[in-house]
Amino acid sequence: MQGNRMLRAGAASALSLSLCVSVASAAPPAAQPGVGLGSARSSAMTDNDHEMRIEPLQDNQMQAAAALGLTTTPQITPWEQITIHRGDTLSGALARIGLGSSTWRPLLSLQDTRALRHLRPGDTLNIRKTPTGQLAELRYKLDSVRTLTVNRDGDRLQAAIAHVPTQTREITASGTVQGSLAHSLADKGVPSRVADDMARIYRYRHDLRQLHKGDQFSVIYQATYANGEEVGIGPVVAASITSDHKIYRAFRAKGADGKYAYFDGAGHSFKPAFTRKPVAYTRISSPFNLHRMNPVTHHIRPHKGVDMAAPIGAPIHAAADGVVKYSGWMHGYGRLVELKNMDGYSTRYAHMHRIQSGLHVGEHVTKGQVIGYVGESGEATGPHLHFEIRRYGVAHNPLTIKLPNGRNLPKTRLAAYKRRIQPLIARLSPAPTTLLAKTASTPANGSACLGRNGFRNTLSEGNGSDNGILCLVRSPSVRA
Ligand SMILES: [Zn+2]
Repeated sequence: MQGNRMLRAGAASALSLSLCVSVASAAPPAAQPGVGLGSARSSAMTDNDHEMRIEPLQDNQMQAAAALGLTTTPQITPWEQITIHRGDTLSGALARIGLGSSTWRPLLSLQDTRALRHLRPGDTLNIRKTPTGQLAELRYKLDSVRTLTVNRDGDRLQAAIAHVPTQTREITASGTVQGSLAHSLADKGVPSRVADDMARIYRYRHDLRQLHKGDQFSVIYQATYANGEEVGIGPVVAASITSDHKIYRAFRAKGADGKYAYFDGAGHSFKPAFTRKPVAYTRISSPFNLHRMNPVTHHIRPHKGVDMAAPIGAPIHAAADGVVKYSGWMHGYGRLVELKNMDGYSTRYAHMHRIQSGLHVGEHVTKGQVIGYVGESGEATGPHLHFEIRRYGVAHNPLTIKLPNGRNLPKTRLAAYKRRIQPLIARLSPAPTTLLAKTASTPANGSACLGRNGFRNTLSEGNGSDNGILCLVRSPSVRA
């Protein structure tokens, strides 16, 4: 079958050239399903999509042959187009041009025709029939680069998926924020999908809505082209945001679970990791229960957290990276620490015996950091930690809520990762007046340099210095 699709040896080289550039015109001229280059239906191109097949099609061959005067007798009718309406089935749509169950049954039994079971309103099928009224050919555009083709071979139908050859390029865009990041990206001609991806990638690290005029951005993303036209955007390969003298860099890489995710320069996941166990508890003394009734007053008094019984003085660890939102006494909570953990998450730790000294509102904490000690302050009947996880202010069961589970790159892959991102860092680089500070503890501008998530970080010089955030100093003396 492949053989009879190939041009015969006699075809001139000029002809094969014209076939090369017009693979998409395999579709019927009236509808040109393979030519319309709208946005791809699939949101992201996978790496496999780069390997595209060129498959000259039957009517290319026939047009070519006809141009050479090799054949003259078309055995089929002109193309007819069927538009799918709301509620249509394949059988109903085919019936409109006189094709019955002897067509759709064998059609749907073919392996590559699965897409025909999921037709959507507005989709179009292009069909030719034999002089005896049987299906001769069918074309159905799956997306901007793939077309389902069905051809009759005697009594049998054969289906295949034709691909337009595509090329993928990496595009770099950089600029200074004027207004919103989305607007600034749009001003540079960056598609809105890339802006959406940036917001998604950074949502745990930096609220991109809070960028200021003058902050800098840089993004490298993939764009896919077919026949010279853009047919797909994404994914973002690397990005950089410079705000308040800090650089937040993100790189796309395959994580330990085999899935692509975003990591900072040190291989830390951009997604936070949570623990449901901020204290080494002996048992759950009271579960999460929004309908808990007070046994004395018989009033419903929801228990918006979980009580973890532990000895007085047991250390309480931050469940995730965050910023202190509250630190002090609060009614029945007793001594309470509340952390804001990005992306709408917040956590509360109540009835503390003691809050860790120096833990003030606005302070950054990292996951696992000790923030206080178990006690029975406030309305507590025994020493325990009352632990809450809220999302956008709504309390969820800390033991069952679905939590982001960011995992850092495994140490074994760190060296290769750091080598791979070097050229990306160069392409993302900010303006040459911006220089690296020597260390976090001795910032040249005298102000504290904050690390990943804005948390204090110790930066070392050289390769290891890219610990997610770099401290930037504008200084006349160059230090690399
Ligand atoms: Zn409680």
